[in-house]
Amino acid sequence: MSNAPLMKSEKDVSGGLDVIKVREDFPILQRSVHGRPLVYLDNAASSQMPRQVIDRLVYYQTHEHANVHRGVHTLSQLASTAFEDARRTAQHFLGAREEREIIFVRGATEAINLVMNSYGRAFIGEGDEIILSAMEHHANIVPWQMLCQEKGARLRVIPMDDAGELLLDEYEKLFNARTRFVALSHVSNALGTINPVREMVATAHAHGVPVLLDGAQAAPHIPVDVQALDCDFYVFSGHKLCGPTGSGVLYGKAALLEKMPPWQGGGDMILNVTFGRTTYNELPYKFEAGTPAIAPVIGLGAAINYLTAIGLERIAAHEQALLEYATEAVRDIEGLCIIGTARHKAAVLSFTLGDIHPHDIGTILDQHGIAVRAGHHCAQPVMQRFGVPATARASFAFYNTFEEVDALLKGIHEVRKVFA
Ligand code: PLP
Repeated sequence: MSNAPLMKSEKDVSGGLDVIKVREDFPILQRSVHGRPLVYLDNAASSQMPRQVIDRLVYYQTHEHANVHRGVHTLSQLASTAFEDARRTAQHFLGAREEREIIFVRGATEAINLVMNSYGRAFIGEGDEIILSAMEHHANIVPWQMLCQEKGARLRVIPMDDAGELLLDEYEKLFNARTRFVALSHVSNALGTINPVREMVATAHAHGVPVLLDGAQAAPHIPVDVQALDCDFYVFSGHKLCGPTGSGVLYGKAALLEKMPPWQGGGDMILNVTFGRTTYNELPYKFEAGTPAIAPVIGLGAAINYLTAIGLERIAAHEQALLEYATEAVRDIEGLCIIGTARHKAAVLSFTLGDIHPHDIGTILDQHGIAVRAGHHCAQPVMQRFGVPATARASFAFYNTFEEVDALLKGIHEVRKVFA
């Protein structure tokens, strides 16, 4: 069922972005939930897909589908070309020097597991140390913990202050002769903090230590240039970037990827196989064993093209305006406490509301058509740091409007009324 279109207001054309027009690209934003217009504010968990990406997927499935890299027939060549076009698109999106530095994976989690299994197992050993931050998503904690258990290495954790900013002096102090790796989120999913990763990479490099940046919450929202950041690895997921689930990217500096052993064996990652010995394929295929997620990757390419046509600067500006508007507005709500008040934040608003459980907040908001996330956001150490079991989290995308922020505020007042 379609809702009445939102009224266009001056406020909606922030950062030079015509949000009302943009919203027309997203069929799902036209639907209602529990008889109310859908207000989708769970973008940090997964964002919605524009028609341009859906159409690209349909075209692929109806005109081009075949396995890639292996066939001489027309469809296989079309699929291979589309797949490799997506690689070039991702390369330019991240500012990578070379195409072969882009490895397609299922998402950020798989990318980090790839680096842990390949780089970690080859180059991190007993007594070595890995530095993480206190605000990592479980995807950037658990794989490293598994490696530590296997190798007898240990994790060191950069603490943060009450605003959710990392303590950079403490970070410096963690380096010693046993430090082998740093793994850091570019943007925190639970707090929204944008970390000063360029400086943090420089610090690690001054100690000769490589850095992986988890860009799952950064790549969809702010311009990223891996050469300027000088990070050694960068990862992100397609489904948080208006693309399909099952797609994601691992960027790695070619010199490092060359040194790393493959992590999965199978078709496509080989040049020659006998029962005695296998010669591995060149980059990036060495790390892409088996049939890849062809349609999701092609959809991811379309999603990147869609976002870059709008412009990441304009996206960031609009989302920033939404965040400022929402942050200002919720300040007056009695009992509402924002978790994560860093000076540089992406458009994530995590909060608690008195002693009302965040799951109740999420459930009541849903009754009003408003989708937010409630829970620990796969960042339990963050919850422990702030002494809360969970938060409610509204996370904005460029297709959200100021009217939707108003709907959220109204919804929060409704929640308060239920528990008054
Ligand atoms: N890293 C961060 C900061 C995230 O927010 C997420 C997902 O929420 C991930 C990693 C894992 O992403 P995925 O589940 O797409 O692999």
